[in-house]
Amino acid sequence: MYIDKFKKIVIKIGSSTLIDKNGKPKKIWLKEFAKDIRNLVNKKKQIVIVSSGAIAIGCEYLGIKKNGLKVDKSQAVASIGQIELMDFYKNTFNKSKLKISQILLTLDDTEQRRRSINARRTIDNLLAMGVVPIVNENDTTATTEIKYGDNDRLAARVSQIISADCLILLSDVDGLYTDNPKKNKKIKFIKTVKEIDENIKKYATRTENLYGSGGMKTKIEAAKICQLSGCYMAIGNGNSMNPIKKIIENQKCTWFLPRVSKLDARKQWIIGSVAPKGEVIIDQGALDAIRNGKSLLPAGVKRINGNFEKGDHILVKDQNNVECARGLTSFSSSEVGKIKGSHSSKIKNILGYSSREEIIHKDDLVKV
Ligand code: GLU
Repeated sequence: MYIDKFKKIVIKIGSSTLIDKNGKPKKIWLKEFAKDIRNLVNKKKQIVIVSSGAIAIGCEYLGIKKNGLKVDKSQAVASIGQIELMDFYKNTFNKSKLKISQILLTLDDTEQRRRSINARRTIDNLLAMGVVPIVNENDTTATTEIKYGDNDRLAARVSQIISADCLILLSDVDGLYTDNPKKNKKIKFIKTVKEIDENIKKYATRTENLYGSGGMKTKIEAAKICQLSGCYMAIGNGNSMNPIKKIIENQKCTWFLPRVSKLDARKQWIIGSVAPKGEVIIDQGALDAIRNGKSLLPAGVKRINGNFEKGDHILVKDQNNVECARGLTSFSSSEVGKIKGSHSSKIKNILGYSSREEIIHKDDLVKV
């Protein structure tokens, strides 16, 4: 459908797509998938793969069960499984004359601007060399608090950082239904989503148990990141053979369309943040100012939640607790606690040192 017009495409492969119910890698599936990628590369498309499966393949290799693994053990298992995973890709992709590389990212690599730019540069260089980068989370160092945990959002953040045209999430269902097809016969299949409204969220909750480890929730969050960064996203069934070919031939899948006006790269990165450190609740005057493209000043801040440092990502919420913007704060949470409600001219007196006048400068602020 849309794929013909895309150049940079990210494809996320979940563990259940790559590994069968007995924990064995699906060799024929990957061989066929590599042929599809070869075809896309022949058409001058640049492909990045985000692949799960390190922990599942590690368990298979060690002969242990995945269920019930504690975090520290699964980190150790991931370090074993990641080499097996890459070995599987390398051997299979070689047969289609595709060169691959491994990129392991942590949450900090995408959430710190400088590191995210470095990641982009590396991936762009690999793509220029005709290589297919294969990305996974660096599970061996990521603990619960500093971890994505699901590759859906990681894939969306990578797509945003490298300015991909499209992200395809290969899942174990065809896409988004209005209800669980196993329970309700009158359900409808959603082909296109322009806006992630309350209805879409409701459908996602109803069908939650149909989806793999990340569930539908993380897929909708991924779609939100893509929409805001001007990237198309599709959810399609990865369990059949040649899923990419089928999506290209416009078989069943759900497309999430990007927001019409595209933000600049830095603002895309701000809005796509997956780990905001805190939030500020603002009054009506500040909300009006933000809507008119102005900065957020201390006078309009009513409350704060969370602990954050200067430069951190924070959410801006209105009086009804609805998110209205995101941005990079110029002050820590303890400083905001002291200056909230005050006129900007008083900041120096209150804090005892001179600083910026805005809590979030308009260049660091993006409306949701
Ligand atoms: N990074 C994990 C792995 O390779 C998978 C995370 C997910 O299931 O999305 O096993």
